[in-house]
Amino acid sequence: MLAGLEQLIATKSPYKLASRAFRERTIIRIGDVLLGGDDVVIMAGPCTVENREQLLQTARGVRHAGAHVLRGGAYKPRSSPYSFQGLGQEGLALLSAARAETGLPIITEVMEPGTIALVAEHADVLQIGARNCQNYPLLREVGRTDRPVMVKRGPGCTVEEWIMAAEHVMSHGNMQVMLCERGIKTFETATRHTLDLSAIPLVKQLTHLPVIVDPSHGTGRRDLIKSMCLAAIAAGADGVLIEVHPNPENALCDGAQSLDLDEFADCVAGMRLVAEAVGRRVPRRELVPA
Ligand code: PEP
Ligand code: MN
Repeated sequence: MLAGLEQLIATKSPYKLASRAFRERTIIRIGDVLLGGDDVVIMAGPCTVENREQLLQTARGVRHAGAHVLRGGAYKPRSSPYSFQGLGQEGLALLSAARAETGLPIITEVMEPGTIALVAEHADVLQIGARNCQNYPLLREVGRTDRPVMVKRGPGCTVEEWIMAAEHVMSHGNMQVMLCERGIKTFETATRHTLDLSAIPLVKQLTHLPVIVDPSHGTGRRDLIKSMCLAAIAAGADGVLIEVHPNPENALCDGAQSLDLDEFADCVAGMRLVAEAVGRRVPRRELVPA
C-alpha cells in the first residue's frame, strides 16, 4: 500500500489518493509543458474532427496563437442519436497527423472501455466526457493505462462526486489525473450551463490535482469565452480547454460556442496578461525546452 494511504483510509474524507492530505501537488507532463505548476496550459481545437483540412487549419492556427495542446473529438457523445457521432478511427488518424505536423500533443475523448487501447495509441491525454463522469467501468479502465486522464465534471455532479470520479481512476494505479470544470445544470437558461468558477479554488484546496476550465461547454456562448478564461486564470486554474473552429458558422458541432482563430489569438493575449498579474505564465512554445 502507498505510504500514508493507510492513515488516510482511516480518515473521514471519502477521497484518499486525490486528497490534499495525501500529496501537496501533482504535476503532469503533456508534451513539452508541465501542467499543475506555475504554467497555464492552453488546450484548443475543434469540438469535433470533421476532415483533414478543417483539423490541420485549426491545429496550425491555434499553435501559431500559442496553444500547447490540440483538442478534437473523434468519438462524440451527442444528446441526439441523429446528430453527427464523430469520425471514430478516421478522426484519430487525423489527430495523429495533426500532431506529426504541428508537434502539438493531443487530447481526445474516450467513451467506452473497449476503445481505450485504440484511443491511447493516438492521444497524449484521455478525456472522460461530462456524461461519463460516473461511468465507473470506464474510469476503472483508464485508471489502468499510463496516459494522463482529464475527468470532466458531470453536469449534475457535486464537487465531491467529481473528485470521487478522479479517485476511481487513481485507485486503479493511474495518478496522472486532472479535473475539468465545464459547467453544471442550474435553473439558468441564458447560458448553456452555469460555469462554476468557485469550484477552482475549492478543488485546489481539497485536492492536489491540476484544474482545467472549459468555458465553451460552460457557457455555450462565444461572446463569453474570453471573460471566463481570464476569470478562470485569476481564480487559479492550471489550464483552459477552448473550442476553436476556422469557420464556426459552418461547424458540425458546437459552432455557437467556438472561437474563430482571430478571437482565439485575442483570448490568448488576454490570458498572458492575467497569468502574469497572478504570478503565473502562459509559456511561449518557442521558449519551452524540448
Ligand atoms: C467535449 O469537450 O468535446 C465535450 C463533449 O464536452 P462535455 O463532455 O463537457 O460535454
Ligand atoms: Mn463540444
